[in-house]
Amino acid sequence: MFLTVTTTGTPARPATDLGFLLHKHPDKAQAFATSFGTAHVLYPEADEQRCTAALLLEVDAVALVRRGKGKGRGGASDAALASYVNDRPYAASSLLAVALSRVFSSAMRGVCAHRPERAAEPLPLRVEVPALPARGGPGLVRRLFEPLGWAVSADAVPLDSAFPEWGDSRYVRLVLESDTLRLAEALRHLYVLLPVLDDAKHYWVSPDEVDKLLRAGEGWLPGHPEQKLITSRYLSRRWSLTREAMERLELVRLAEAEGTEVEEIDNAVAPETETEERPTPLAVRRREAILTALREHGAARVLDLGCGEGHLVRELLKEPAFTEITGVDVSVRALTIAARRLRLDTMGERQASRVRLLQGSLAYTDKRLTGYDAAVLSEVIEHLDLPRLPALEYAVFGAARPRTVVVTTPNVEYNVRWETLPAGHVRHRDHRFEWTRAEFRAWAETVAARHGYGVEFRPVGPDDPEVGPPTQLALFTQTATTETESKKEAKAA
Ligand code: SAH
Repeated sequence: MFLTVTTTGTPARPATDLGFLLHKHPDKAQAFATSFGTAHVLYPEADEQRCTAALLLEVDAVALVRRGKGKGRGGASDAALASYVNDRPYAASSLLAVALSRVFSSAMRGVCAHRPERAAEPLPLRVEVPALPARGGPGLVRRLFEPLGWAVSADAVPLDSAFPEWGDSRYVRLVLESDTLRLAEALRHLYVLLPVLDDAKHYWVSPDEVDKLLRAGEGWLPGHPEQKLITSRYLSRRWSLTREAMERLELVRLAEAEGTEVEEIDNAVAPETETEERPTPLAVRRREAILTALREHGAARVLDLGCGEGHLVRELLKEPAFTEITGVDVSVRALTIAARRLRLDTMGERQASRVRLLQGSLAYTDKRLTGYDAAVLSEVIEHLDLPRLPALEYAVFGAARPRTVVVTTPNVEYNVRWETLPAGHVRHRDHRFEWTRAEFRAWAETVAARHGYGVEFRPVGPDDPEVGPPTQLALFTQTATTETESKKEAKAA
């Protein structure tokens, strides 16, 4: 079983950094014992311009049989075993995914002490899997990988090249290319999607599969158009065996919701130019600026897109003028926390009828988001990879089309004023980009012009004479209606 990961580089950003990112030195071939065989990591090529890491898994049939019979639970059937050891010894199956997570566990989590900045940024990647068992064929392979930002080449491998009339085997030769993904994301895609495509019986049942799936899928699985297929295939064979795990998982989730929260650094207190008695946290100032804009525009039905843990939703609920408040987020975990924070379950009926939380991705158009007065995107756009931004732009300004849109994002020029921020670092580890005032302005003006909105800009936080404010806010107001909108209006009149 075999797969390779290749990256390219420059003298300033040598391709051999891949060794740091994977925590495996390019000059060494290393072997790791697993319970089902030996995993080897080696670098067929490693120089400044190009570096390829190969993961090769030698399956130990005897170990597999022992493991299968010994445990009595989730044991390998002879048929399943045969498909691993006889058929195509280099086919990449679910076992390869397991090896991937064992050998590259830190890389999958995006941890890299030596090159943290490279782990946090997208890099040019090419993944090759010469023989991938793929139930569903090349079509399904594309449907699974393309929405994640991969350019996919998937060719069916003929059953026997000497006898083309026998048709195709269940194997696909897969090449994935992207320069918008971080290595950790790429590995997590493979970790989940290789076994999904394999769709064979897994005999390495462990009680925390659901937890693993949600963890590996965080940030991409919830918004994936094939989410249902992925989840059901990933778990189906093990569903009855993991009921116990599901219950445990729920406990883990609740514990997580109670305790650990990722605070964005700019939610801390902003350094003030003027001395106030108690400086107001920037997050509070941001919400105040947003509420002011919404009040000015008389918005009643409001969308909070990328609502996170529901801080703004809570503020909106306090004002009766906001009659309908809908929070949307791609993260189930954030929504779970939001629901608990807002005490949705014990809230009075009247209050509860004003608020809704929806899971969804802003990178896809969504009928549920039409017909609102205003939409807020507070500190959200910088969480999307730049190539996905046009999709968000279309979903919000082209399809949902609220009359007013409020967008806030960090002003990267201000970062030099943050005492706790090392030079050249973004404010939060999930920020894919941070813009200068000019960059934000250029984006906002293009969006406004393209979709029939006017736009004005407002500072949030102390407006530094040199570098501007810590947060920048763009307020869009619809000026032109679309053809269908004007037709509707004409009909109504
Ligand atoms: N609006 C909140 C949270 C900002 S953090 C605030 O101002 O504090 C960014 C949020 O955007 C996260 O909760 C993240 O889950 C969400 N997000 C990122 N990409 C998204 C997408 N494609 N669709 C919907 N939500 C997304």
